[in-house]
Amino acid sequence: MFHRVLPGQTLWRIAKVYRVPLDEILRVNGIADPERIEAGQQIFIPGAGRLLEVPPYPAPLPDVAAPAPPGPEIAERSAGDFEWPVAGGEILSRFGARRRTHRHAGIDIRGRPGQEVVAAQDGVVTFSGSTRTAYGKLVILDHGTGFESLYAHNRETLVAAGDTVKRGQPIARVGRTGNATTPHAHFEIRRGGVPVDPLPYFLSVAEVRP
Ligand SMILES: [Zn+2]
Repeated sequence: MFHRVLPGQTLWRIAKVYRVPLDEILRVNGIADPERIEAGQQIFIPGAGRLLEVPPYPAPLPDVAAPAPPGPEIAERSAGDFEWPVAGGEILSRFGARRRTHRHAGIDIRGRPGQEVVAAQDGVVTFSGSTRTAYGKLVILDHGTGFESLYAHNRETLVAAGDTVKRGQPIARVGRTGNATTPHAHFEIRRGGVPVDPLPYFLSVAEVRP
């Protein structure tokens, strides 16, 4: 069954609503970059019995100058709640940095090849494995209360979808799979499915040189 993309709908959301792995949707549709879909595009949903409503997001990628609006979730997931995913890793690129076709949806953190990437917060693994996308080998965690975190470019992943993980638990190893030229972790925090600047969620990034 084909789902016609409406304005504001993301592939992440579409995959979630239809309960089909994002990677499978990317594969059968020959899509390389999940961020690059357009309204009106027909997406084949493997195994879908009927069309489902996919709630759109009103805004595209937020601008770096516009912090996420405060809300009850922010209070629960406030500064210091998240652990730096690559120990000692400095920031190579910040959230919102301009790219050729889009703004950076996360931060890039330098790591040694094979260094452990750890869960920034307790959660459940919703995706772990290879993608044929710019993300390369990818882990996505759901932290509840609308928060997800995403770890890309891994050399290998150490967890499986459905696993429960604790803050600080190794979930992957630093690599340069996907669109990466140096070993690093691309890290995103998504709130309600929308990428937000991760830095306010860490107690201290003082040891991290910008
Ligand atoms: Zn990145």
